[in-house]
Amino acid sequence: MLSLPIVEGHQAPLIHEVHADDQYLLNTLDGEWFAILHHFPWVDYRAHAGAYYEALYAFNSEERVTTKWVDEATTETEEAAKQRLLFDRPTTASGQAPAPQILYQGQVVEATVPTVEPQSLAPGVVPLRLAGRKPKCFFALLKSFVGTSLMGFAAEPEQVHLLLKSNPSFARVCGFVPKKNDKARAYRYHHIPSLRKLEQFDQVMRQAGLWDRIKVAEVATNLQTGVIEQEKELVGDTTHYHAYSSFETLSYEDDKGNTRKKSQSKTTKACRCEDWSSCPHEWVLSDDGAGTIVKSKTKILWGHKASVIGLPQQGVALDAVAIQDAATHDGQTFFPHVEQTFERYPTLRASIERVLYDSACDDAALKARFEAELDVELKASFNPRRSKPITEDLPRGIHKITPYGVPICLAGYEFDYKGCRYESEKFIYEAPHHDDGISVCLGCPNRPGCCNRSTQSGRTITVSFDTLPQINPNDPPMAKRFKAIMRRRPSVERMIKRLKCDLGDDRLSKRGNASFQAYLDKTMIAYHLLLRHLT
Ligand SMILES: [Zn+2]
Repeated sequence: MLSLPIVEGHQAPLIHEVHADDQYLLNTLDGEWFAILHHFPWVDYRAHAGAYYEALYAFNSEERVTTKWVDEATTETEEAAKQRLLFDRPTTASGQAPAPQILYQGQVVEATVPTVEPQSLAPGVVPLRLAGRKPKCFFALLKSFVGTSLMGFAAEPEQVHLLLKSNPSFARVCGFVPKKNDKARAYRYHHIPSLRKLEQFDQVMRQAGLWDRIKVAEVATNLQTGVIEQEKELVGDTTHYHAYSSFETLSYEDDKGNTRKKSQSKTTKACRCEDWSSCPHEWVLSDDGAGTIVKSKTKILWGHKASVIGLPQQGVALDAVAIQDAATHDGQTFFPHVEQTFERYPTLRASIERVLYDSACDDAALKARFEAELDVELKASFNPRRSKPITEDLPRGIHKITPYGVPICLAGYEFDYKGCRYESEKFIYEAPHHDDGISVCLGCPNRPGCCNRSTQSGRTITVSFDTLPQINPNDPPMAKRFKAIMRRRPSVERMIKRLKCDLGDDRLSKRGNASFQAYLDKTMIAYHLLLRHLT
């Protein structure tokens, strides 16, 4: 507040509006969302803005024409539709069918010849159309969705609307003003949009493929500008999101004539006909892409599955993609996702030499495919494919050898792997040492029946390759090098936590893969803007 009296005769000071809470928010630690939105580089998004207004224009004109929905599909019973939809899923299709599509591929509605000149667009400056109301500003809408994610909420219309209505600083930094008087219903383009307008924006962005396009642009920018540094490895994993739908369990007959069961989301129709059993419109799944995800023997959940790929050293997620059918095994999702990521970011293809995954990808054929088609080495956590340890025909003093190829002696020590002798086809192990460098064998009560020589170096044993057929002698998982590489794999779990918990919610509020992919894209846009801001 002004405290000095204004000297008579001087002009009263002009009011320069400084929002005190803007300055405050810029300085607070949790105010990253505010700083990012405050300094939002809107110029970089002008091409997207142009594409959006084109798509919005097409969307509005289509809506007027095609409200009737005409389709000549023959009437299909709901039961028949359920089976058809079940066999359409990549996880049900028989072996003879062409290779199923693993990753979700969005159907982009291509815009007609562009007439909006991106250079003419700016926050608050929207293209003029002859008919209709002035549309809401693209930049303000985009900032609202990105900001919602940066604040840790799901970037979905309901949440965006709630925050715009309840947080004036947020609404203002996005570029909206609250309605001064609720009774004045008049539409103003700069007023906080209604929930319906936010839903429409989200839908237009999704249908025009713009969430995806902005995501790719953000990642490419961060790769080009050095915000993300080059690495020689990629890491991947899948994660689940809880579906916003229920399921039913269907019985079906597989290739061999056996009756099997599978869960699927319920069937529905997109039309508003009174009687769905007789109307000609097509039955569809209410939540395509949702499926049962097996976490463990006792934990099975109903959800959507996403594959996440990133750089392990920096712990940066590069892409997140919806899996066409959540019931797909993890071992099948990594290859197509790496392939797609290389196509999208050619500089990665040049720098990446190795890719890491958990034991779901420990498969010789898959490793060969990565080598042959993508020229990268696949390193996967070891999957022993047997659960029982070896307890017979062991070297003296050894109690058992674990399925992971680790011998454990009678005194309970795990032996260290030292290497192999290829001529005699044997793995070599040595008893471990105490911190002071002295072998655990010295002073061991089992010594008389184990180490029969008076050596100071402790017990060394060899195990034949034949005893451990599950272990590849050329790449043994017991080796220090293998362990050192695989230590970088869990960084993908931190990336997933960032995307799922810090920038959103793992409970979906919409159905279908198109919405799920859009949700992943919106989260990734926020993630990469944050990354750039923090670097
Ligand atoms: Zn109908």
